[in-house]
Amino acid sequence: MRDDNCIFCKIANGDIPTNSIYEDDDFRVILDASPATKGHSLIIPKEHYKDMYEIDEKVAAKAMSLAKKLTVHMTDKLGCDGFNILQNNREVAGQTVFHFHMHLIPRYNDGKSILTWGHEEFSDDEMKAICENLRQ
Ligand code: 5GP
Ligand code: ZN
Repeated sequence: MRDDNCIFCKIANGDIPTNSIYEDDDFRVILDASPATKGHSLIIPKEHYKDMYEIDEKVAAKAMSLAKKLTVHMTDKLGCDGFNILQNNREVAGQTVFHFHMHLIPRYNDGKSILTWGHEEFSDDEMKAICENLRQ
């Protein structure tokens, strides 16, 4: 399914030209228009899924497999020193385009710090309760 009002549907399916570094039957990978670092790219499925809650499991698995291959390929080509794979879901988590995508962010030893977050404190009892709640 595609969404006529979705910019990433249009980009992934070639209706809007962009800096595309990879394409197969399921995905297009493009350079992010506002890159956090040199080579910052986005894996975008051709089908419309809003986020991780909605994406088909098999497509999600393929996206991760592609991320693995591109991490190796891009590191080789760019000479970067590490990599962040990032994926935002819903506004509260920083998602701004509501079509599932994975960020591939090359990192460089001499680059600035781009990803930081603080830490919340939880007591041992709270950690136990969280663990109990989440355990499957
Ligand atoms: P999000 O915040 O949803 O995880 O990430 C959306 C990303 O898409 C942002 O990093 C933003 O720069 C990028 N982006 C948004 N619109 C376009 C576009 O039209 N073309 C490209 N290449 N990147 C876009
Ligand atoms: Zn879409």
